[in-house]
Amino acid sequence: MQVVFASAEAAPFVKTGGLGDVAGSLPRALVAAGADVIVMVPKYGTIASEYTDRMEHVADFYVSLGWRNEYCGLERLVIDGVTYLFIDNERYFKRDYPYGFFDDGERFAFFSKAVTESLQHLPEGFQCDVLHCNDWHTALAPVFLREFYQGLPLYERVKTVFSIHNIAFQGQYADTILNDILGMAHIPNAARQLRCDERSINYMQGALDYSDAITTVSPSYAWEIQTPEYGEGLDGILRRRSNVLSGILNGIDTDAWNPATDPMIHANYSAADMSGKKACKAALQEELGLEVRDDRPLMVMVTRLTRQKGMDLVTYALDRILSGGVQVAVLGTGDYEEPMRYFANKYPGTCAARITFDNALSHRMYAGADMFLMPSLFEPCGLSQMIAMRYGTLPVVRETGGLRDTVAPYNQFTGEGTGFTFANFNGDEMGDAVFRGARLYWDDHAAWDQLVQNAMAADFSWVRSADEYMNLYHNLHPEIDITKPAPIVQEPEPAEPTAVEAEPAAPAPEPTVTEAEPAPKAEQAAEPADDAKAEAPAKAEEPAPKAEPVAEPAKKTAAKKTTASKTAAKKPAARKTAATKSTATKAAEKPAAKATATKPAASKAAATKTAAAKATATKTTTKATASKATAAKTTAKKPSTASATKTATKSTTTKAAPAKAAAAKTAADKPATAAATAPKTTSTKSTTTKAAAAKTAPAKASTSKAATSSAAKATAKPAAPKATAAKPAAPKAAAQDSSAATPADKPAPKAKSVSAAKRMTRKR
Ligand code: ADP
Repeated sequence: MQVVFASAEAAPFVKTGGLGDVAGSLPRALVAAGADVIVMVPKYGTIASEYTDRMEHVADFYVSLGWRNEYCGLERLVIDGVTYLFIDNERYFKRDYPYGFFDDGERFAFFSKAVTESLQHLPEGFQCDVLHCNDWHTALAPVFLREFYQGLPLYERVKTVFSIHNIAFQGQYADTILNDILGMAHIPNAARQLRCDERSINYMQGALDYSDAITTVSPSYAWEIQTPEYGEGLDGILRRRSNVLSGILNGIDTDAWNPATDPMIHANYSAADMSGKKACKAALQEELGLEVRDDRPLMVMVTRLTRQKGMDLVTYALDRILSGGVQVAVLGTGDYEEPMRYFANKYPGTCAARITFDNALSHRMYAGADMFLMPSLFEPCGLSQMIAMRYGTLPVVRETGGLRDTVAPYNQFTGEGTGFTFANFNGDEMGDAVFRGARLYWDDHAAWDQLVQNAMAADFSWVRSADEYMNLYHNLHPEIDITKPAPIVQEPEPAEPTAVEAEPAAPAPEPTVTEAEPAPKAEQAAEPADDAKAEAPAKAEEPAPKAEPVAEPAKKTAAKKTTASKTAAKKPAARKTAATKSTATKAAEKPAAKATATKPAASKAAATKTAAAKATATKTTTKATASKATAAKTTAKKPSTASATKTATKSTTTKAAPAKAAAAKTAADKPATAAATAPKTTSTKSTTTKAAAAKTAPAKASTSKAATSSAAKATAKPAAPKATAAKPAAPKAAAQDSSAATPADKPAPKAKSVSAAKRMTRKR
């Protein structure tokens, strides 16, 4: 199985978030699972010279983009059995950050076209069977492939997979680029399927229509994005294409995150010998200035302090939690820094806040804590909860997206489970879940220890995910046999825990007292004893683990997995469907789609209607954000982005963290750029874009005319706000902080204008 994996990021070369992690780890796992993989990534100016120096130029050609003819070089680098082909065009990619530019629409249209064109220039013996595209930056590749290359023998066999890592970023632009950049205005089917309203086109929407298979990063998220609440306006298409949509969980780097060998923690430990964990807890309590006592459960958060991560609920419930006898330590940066400092000051010895990005400290926190809090509003997959479980730290999570799929709620009758969960985005429910954990910690050591064992035994390695992707590829190409090069390597037996020298504790920044009152509590702070009483009814009320609504996609995968003969039997049908779906002419698809034809139409109509209704409000907000963001951008963006890339490229073992570090560190940057990108294009288009175009003009194979003209034309427009039912009312603190909710945070159903604006470009 020969797979071309296209992504705008791939660790260790460039990473601003989870996409970089996935593109950095999954291809390696696919190779181990028996695939030949070529990863295509833009050759950004920020890629470290340790890599660029080793790249080998293998081909160059020109890529047509509307009326342009753009240079494209292919630079090869092979690492760990994975071939990387870097797409070289300095005009588009020799910049100081991957995203956030006025011409992102043009840059990533080029990238998508270059990927598609490159299939003719692959190394000897490599014939692409599957083109696997990721997020909106590569979303046009399946569209180009079917519209421009269909019929060429080389492309006929290529099946396309599109993976959604975050549906909030869709690549939505003014429809003028349909002609000017994409060169597709004359193709009615393409124009129709890319158009999302009367003046805009949407790259991701195109991929959802044109790809043979669609995946996202967890089964629950796969189901959620088919609802208006989470679908960001694309739920209609996703429902229509649900037969080819599946959710495949991300994995974590189980070598980098291993308590038995982690050199960054106070003492190593394993499921077989947990004594080191106690030492880690005591050391962490001491380091953070918390009371060193084992009878206090220590709950931590390592996170972006944003609305997406449930910080509204946290600020609402912290008084109850802290006064109830639970210690809390938070490591993160973002919009909720002040509230966290406030609580740290109000509860010395019980609450600690470290407002920074610190990878080593994050390791110590995962290792030293008893519980890990992650009450996200939405979570496509989430890595932190998996890391926590690997360290025997029980997660307390909201049942959404990947959290729902990775954390099994504790069942007091069977002892099963790997953590504590709650269903609704509600601070009291979150508090109840925290105290379910605390009560177990206090009252039933045996049950607690069993839960820890369960959590540590969970398998979050990439091996499982890679196998699922291989099954998916195999369903698209049943005629290709997959033979694994070697049996799956099992996790090495945890080494005998050895104490390691503790990292010198970072001097704790003295929290500053703020004037702000904390969010008013909705209830009395419960004493541990009181909570014990309150706990029983709470448990009884706890919703039983729901039958997964994602059963469908899951079933699909399961079915695919069963046996070779079974799969083979299924294959012709599968192939037929894929082929039918893949044709852009839709002639074949129509009869099948007829039955539901009214559905997408209706949803579109509804969306348009809502768009119209909301238009005024959205515009006003967007403009306001624009002016704010522009100012912020100039000050905050540059230095932080530089550090972002530097950090990301430096580290190989702790991939997720450094890039996140950069991302988190640049909290000021993220909001600024994310907001700036979108609104900028609408409100300051003529001035900003032209200036920027002039700046980036030195191109390898382009004219300044091209730059300016595309700059002016490739203006993005905020997506129409979706009509979503409002979420359960956020607590007061949420209301207070909502104004500060940054665009870096992933969209919240309530903040429609922000969410809409963010859909335009990906900027983590
Ligand atoms: P996100 O939505 O931010 O990608 P994930 O849970 O998928 O959330 O991944 C977050 C990753 O970033 C985890 O590896 C976590 O440990 C790391 N991280 C987040 N904030 C910090 C921080 N302040 N310091 C160190 N690591 C952090």
